[in-house]
Amino acid sequence: MDIYTDVLIVGCGVSGMYAALNINNNCKVVILSKSKTDECNTYLAQGGISRAKDKDDIDLFIQDTMKAGKDKNKEEAVRVLAEESIENINRLIGLGMDFDYKDGELDYTREGAHSINRIVHSTDETGKRVFETLFKQVKNRDNITIYEDTTLVDLLKFKGACCGGIVKRNNGVDFIHAKYTILASGGIGGLFLNSTNRRTMTGDGIAIALKNNIDVTNLGYIQFHPTALYENSSEERKFLISESLRGEGAKLFNINKQRFVNELLPRDIVAESIWDEERKTDSSFVYLDASFMDSEFIINRFPGIYKECKKRGIDVTNEPIPVTPVQHYFMGGIKVDLNSSTSMDNLYACGEVSCTGVHGANRLASNSLLEGLVFSRRAALDINKNINSKDIIPLKHNIKLKEAEEIIDSNLNSVLSEFKKVLGEKEHELINN
Ligand SMILES: Cc1cc2nc3c(=O)[nH]c(=O)nc-3n(C[C@H](O)[C@H](O)[C@H](O)COP(=O)(O)OP(=O)(O)OC[C@H]3O[C@@H](n4cnc5c(N)ncnc54)[C@H](O)[C@@H]3O)c2cc1C
Repeated sequence: MDIYTDVLIVGCGVSGMYAALNINNNCKVVILSKSKTDECNTYLAQGGISRAKDKDDIDLFIQDTMKAGKDKNKEEAVRVLAEESIENINRLIGLGMDFDYKDGELDYTREGAHSINRIVHSTDETGKRVFETLFKQVKNRDNITIYEDTTLVDLLKFKGACCGGIVKRNNGVDFIHAKYTILASGGIGGLFLNSTNRRTMTGDGIAIALKNNIDVTNLGYIQFHPTALYENSSEERKFLISESLRGEGAKLFNINKQRFVNELLPRDIVAESIWDEERKTDSSFVYLDASFMDSEFIINRFPGIYKECKKRGIDVTNEPIPVTPVQHYFMGGIKVDLNSSTSMDNLYACGEVSCTGVHGANRLASNSLLEGLVFSRRAALDINKNINSKDIIPLKHNIKLKEAEEIIDSNLNSVLSEFKKVLGEKEHELINN
């Protein structure tokens, strides 16, 4: 089937939906979700979203982001992130997001490597609320259609420019012809044996970019979160114990009950020292202890963590949580400029699949949802400038289901082999396909 739309957006997380909401509402937008709409990493986000507290905090926020990123960040992108953070959080509130408040003010929490408390949150289920807020708005917009259980197989191209996508849907193949396409297809955690990500996040956008010679960058910048719940037996995604629990005072101990690191250092440093400690003590985990904190505070402020741990037989208010580092986030990705434009004409990328350069070599906690908001809006505003003067190019294609499925398999194999090269001796961290 041939489908015609002004904008095709691949991904139904924070970046895809916020981009869609910022496209002129007289334009038709189609959003794809590979599985059910809420099965994105956005839904899982716990800790919160960082924002400059006020104009005076912008420079310090930039410094913190650059320091965590080991100064490998693109400074002008970090400046955009910090300067546009206040406006975008306000927009999100305007769309209906209910952050936590204290004494009538937004309740700012702290996470590793932030000099001050500047993270807004909704208990420890910020991502779920962000998803629900944006989803409700998207559903209310007549110009936006979502296709669930629809997988982008490849891009449609004409004279080197993107003109839509080939998708697998309803056990058939559709051709979605679009003036502009935005890849908002998320991260790569599903390629790893141990990750906090949805298993479906298999770097499809990166595979498709590699195949089409679209510039990608910093593929080696992969973040391991220091504190995922340690579960030996599970092959499912690993449950995250948010950094904000450490931000609120929880402490790390080795299995001999000794402290070994400042919990609020950047993620890469804390993860390295946990691995070190595990080696020294011949253990597969260390402990994160919040049991000395006020029980009521934990239950109210971290209901998600409390419930998930309880389900697994751990009472966080009474005992330490076994934790270990696992893959969590991808700082590299499809290379984009400050308007999220890729090296292919008519193609944008935003969110975790893209590399704006804001995170450098190590993402500062809670900067990901913010990057998704700031840079997806920039993509949409850039698209809005020219969309009315552009035409859809209705190319004819004929790809059968079997062929589409073969392309999906080959996308997975190619992205896996690319990350094998990047990971070198750590390639055993990846899934076997
Ligand atoms: C457990 C956890 C906790 C986190 N906590 C925080 C936090 O507190 N603060 C913070 O800032 N960040 C946090 N992050 C990171 C953050 O949630 C993600 O980086 C961010 O949500 C990514 O948003 P996105 O829009 O790029 O992609 P996602 O939300 O992951 O969405 C990707 C979308 O792309 C679709 N897709 C993928 N491939 C295809 C394909 N081939 N065809 C069609 N559709 C496709 C998926 O179906 C999905 O809809 C956390 C991440 C995890 C996993």
